[in-house]
Amino acid sequence: MFKKLRSSASQLGGIVIANPYPVDNVEIIPAPLPDKVVLPLQQRMGDEAIACVKVGDKVLTGQVIAQTQDAFCVSIHASISGTVVAIDAQTIPHQSGLKSKCITIKSDGKDEWIEHKGHADFLYDSPQVLVDYIQQSGVVGLGGAGFPTHAKFNKIKPCHTLIINATECEPGIMCDDALMQHYAHEVIRGVEILLHISGANQAIIAIENDKQKAYQSLLTLNHNDKINIVKIPTKYTSGAEKLLIKFLLDIEIPANKFAVDEGVICQNVATTKAIFDAVIDGKPLISRIVTVTGDGVTQPNNFEVRLGASFAHIVALAQPDNHPHDSRMGGMMMGVDVKTLEIPICKVTNCIFINHTKAKPSIQECIRCGQCNQVCPVGLLPQQIYWYAKGENTDKAMDYNLDSCIECRCCDVVCPSHIPLTQYFSFAKALHRQKTQGQKKVDIARERFEFREYRLERNKTERAEMMARKKEELKQKMADDKVQKDKIAQAMARVGKNKK
Ligand code: SF4
Ligand code: SF4
Repeated sequence: MFKKLRSSASQLGGIVIANPYPVDNVEIIPAPLPDKVVLPLQQRMGDEAIACVKVGDKVLTGQVIAQTQDAFCVSIHASISGTVVAIDAQTIPHQSGLKSKCITIKSDGKDEWIEHKGHADFLYDSPQVLVDYIQQSGVVGLGGAGFPTHAKFNKIKPCHTLIINATECEPGIMCDDALMQHYAHEVIRGVEILLHISGANQAIIAIENDKQKAYQSLLTLNHNDKINIVKIPTKYTSGAEKLLIKFLLDIEIPANKFAVDEGVICQNVATTKAIFDAVIDGKPLISRIVTVTGDGVTQPNNFEVRLGASFAHIVALAQPDNHPHDSRMGGMMMGVDVKTLEIPICKVTNCIFINHTKAKPSIQECIRCGQCNQVCPVGLLPQQIYWYAKGENTDKAMDYNLDSCIECRCCDVVCPSHIPLTQYFSFAKALHRQKTQGQKKVDIARERFEFREYRLERNKTERAEMMARKKEELKQKMADDKVQKDKIAQAMARVGKNKK
């Protein structure tokens, strides 16, 4: 059925890291309603949404509170019922402790919903109607990237394959595993909605082979011939979009292209469930499942929590111990450290790590062991790129395909010298962008100058030509006038002669 399926785990690259904090029973524990929620207006891929409520307004759960016309933005909804108490800058989940404009709602404790109605007979709706509905329901990629879901369907190329990324390959995160076990029906129906919208011939749900319960749950409830549930080897980076496409379909997506350019659309499995909620139940995205884990909590598990509730609100449910902690948002490999737990849960918050504060190992010189080269899932030579990145020779680093680095940190993990290779690569990419943008600016300024010179020269030539033309016309006119005058004089002379 598939264009080409691979079978060897080694072809995936990457590294095997078991969940360091496994739990016996993967659950979804509903978090209590928070006292307040803080909802950022800044969108991951687009502009800041504009608030359509003001301080003092009463709002219902699911009510639109901010909107924008930006094609990459989605509507923002109240995640609890209550009163808008502030629209101001608040600390948002970001490594730098950045502040951004947010709407704060104080709960009335009632959780009263707006009226909502879904499209249960979605097959009678056109794909565009459903895409608009998904946008209005605030659905974005819940896997961590936050890419607006509707934007993947505004494509030019027809889609032949839909891939549902259920790999959840980052060690420690288990929210998608729990979602598939508890919402298998919703996931399968969500895939059917996406098949209708995309017009794809087939859908592949890709799931790592250590998620046996989730796999069985999906398999039991899938009765659609177009949907295939495929187990892939448990290995970190198996879920990276381009690698997954290569593994499942043997289609290579070049560095400067997207999956949609090759007729493939990828959606995260939790996003697929959010699409079911939006389309079938008419419910906007107002909550998500978050894993809270790490050696600093006594009960790691998954919690279903309202968007905008604080990290502290659900970390408390996992019972942190009394040791000093470091907090991290996202996976232990690709996540980022955060300075405080008084920041709101966002659509992309899939995991919170609470770990005991540990001393960082000291960085040593590269011993050229080559281990980093062996684990790179995209076949780069991190050791080589490191030398150029360190020397800020970004052109050379680009010659070694720095731009294909997915910043997965596999090379960091195996490096016996504890060199933060990915940090160097991330810095080198930014530096190269800056340099090329700087060069671009210089090129544009030069082009502008050259064009101005050309324009001035052309004006001068045109002016000279015009003057010459006018002079010629004047000369011609004077010659014509003289001929005319001569003719008149001759005629007058003839008349005078005749009179005599
Ligand atoms: S070079 Fe980039 S893609 Fe390769 S292992 Fe290192 S971080 Fe990952
Ligand atoms: S793993 Fe570290 S020490 Fe070994 S070659 Fe790569 S950068 Fe050098």
